[in-house]
Amino acid sequence: MAVEGASRVRIVREAASLRAQVADWRRQGETIAFVPTMGALHAGHISLVGEAKTLASRVVMSIFVNPTQFAPTEDFGAYPRAFEADAAKFDAAGGDLLFAPAVENMYPQNFATLINVEGPAVAGLEDRFRPTHFSGVATIVAKLLNLCRADLAIFGEKDYQQLKVVTQMARDLDFETKILGAPTIREKDGLALSSRNVYLSAEERRVAPVLHAALARCAADISKGAAIEAALDVARAALADAGFVTDYVEARHAETLRPVASLVDGPIRLLAAAKLGKTRLIDNIAA
Ligand code: AMP
Repeated sequence: MAVEGASRVRIVREAASLRAQVADWRRQGETIAFVPTMGALHAGHISLVGEAKTLASRVVMSIFVNPTQFAPTEDFGAYPRAFEADAAKFDAAGGDLLFAPAVENMYPQNFATLINVEGPAVAGLEDRFRPTHFSGVATIVAKLLNLCRADLAIFGEKDYQQLKVVTQMARDLDFETKILGAPTIREKDGLALSSRNVYLSAEERRVAPVLHAALARCAADISKGAAIEAALDVARAALADAGFVTDYVEARHAETLRPVASLVDGPIRLLAAAKLGKTRLIDNIAA
């Protein structure tokens, strides 16, 4: 097994080494929590490690910038990569094993399978703007769950539709790993932490918290009895005024992601995606 750099954490590049280590831990009666990421770690990712440590005796993180979830027009090449710093952060957070495979190993030349989830993956939210995204996500998560065989895997609510898609896929395909969600970690001004926030110019960074503020106001208005569509329109207008180009601002059933007409239709989640310049931000909150 390759062991590089940081003091405590094991860094593993090969699937066979991951499997061997996890099997070894299992024989010793350890429990395993898994945190899949694309790296460029921030406090949001680290919060998932913290949560994982309370739930299992070993924490495995994957760092893999997954090409199949990026459209050709998206930022796969430019996506921030910071492996050394990531390893140090994961180590400091008390993680045990970092799995960082090469693209060629995850997708060898004759790779020919894609997982297509329906239900929450075709809700008309992210999928409307990134039509191939969730099949890439579902495929890589299925592979990673199969390789890691963890007791549980933790995903951030930051990517709310993704959390629902992965939960659906794991249930439908009988994965034994339990899928858990964890709350979104934010900057003091409300901006959800994201690896993509580094793309924001100083001026865009100043404006970016408007996304969360608009959702928070919308949630408050709905809970005070405002009509949902009217409250969403206020949020859409606030985003446009601040200079965002909005992909969507929607109210959905928090579990199924189906449209909701009023509070009685069930727990509501507000979800939004909007661009500031070239940077696309997503966020969501409970209403
Ligand atoms: P990513 O590296 O962006 O694919 O994210 C890896 C995991 O971290 C996903 O489960 C994300 O939902 C989660 N995550 C990303 N940002 C945050 C955040 N601000 N708070 C909590 N979890 C997050």
